Amino acid sequence: MKLIIASNNKGKIREYKEILEPIGFEVLSQREAGINAEPDETGTTFAENAKIKAQEIFRLADCAVLADDSGLAVDALGGAPGVYSARYEGLADSDARSRRVLEQLEGVPEEKRGAQFICAIHLILDDGREIAVQGSCKGSIGYGFKGNNGFGYDPIFMFGDRSFAELSADEKNSVSHRADALAKLITELKGTDI
Ligand code: IMP
Repeated sequence: MKLIIASNNKGKIREYKEILEPIGFEVLSQREAGINAEPDETGTTFAENAKIKAQEIFRLADCAVLADDSGLAVDALGGAPGVYSARYEGLADSDARSRRVLEQLEGVPEEKRGAQFICAIHLILDDGREIAVQGSCKGSIGYGFKGNNGFGYDPIFMFGDRSFAELSADEKNSVSHRADALAKLITELKGTDI
């Protein structure tokens, strides 16, 4: 079944191709499918935003569509940056957003620095059936930037005694919020007639 990923992010598309092609999907980026809409993420939850994106692209497509929405939720900040992870406090630079989180956690003790990455996936099959799943990865916020891999908040997100930016791509992909959501999606798909 042909499947459009509602994104042009190369890393994301590659990850989805690796996992979904072996189970029978022909995966295309939005650009490859000739769709250049960029739906507004007006939802207040990751799940709502993923659904908005999937439904809007599905209206323009002639096949199945998958959209995701992800971000960082910090316990001591009441779940912020949350759905605003990509534009937290209006900061355009991703390192500046991480620095802001570190500043906001100044003086917060180790046991209250819990955080999680969250990823919601919304899939609409070619016949209109919808499957929604959410994955997470629990860790904590460190005390500075560590590591050079990854992107976004990875250098301040501690997973055990290493930051996400200190993990290899393979290590991160086996434990990440996106991997968790994808595993749940695969489980759902196995019980579905596609
Ligand atoms: P989106 O789901 O691609 O819109 O990602 C939203 C934002 O969440 C990104 O711009 C990052 O700031 C953050 N984010 C999502 N996933 C990750 C991750 O795996 N590592 C670091 N930051 C992430």
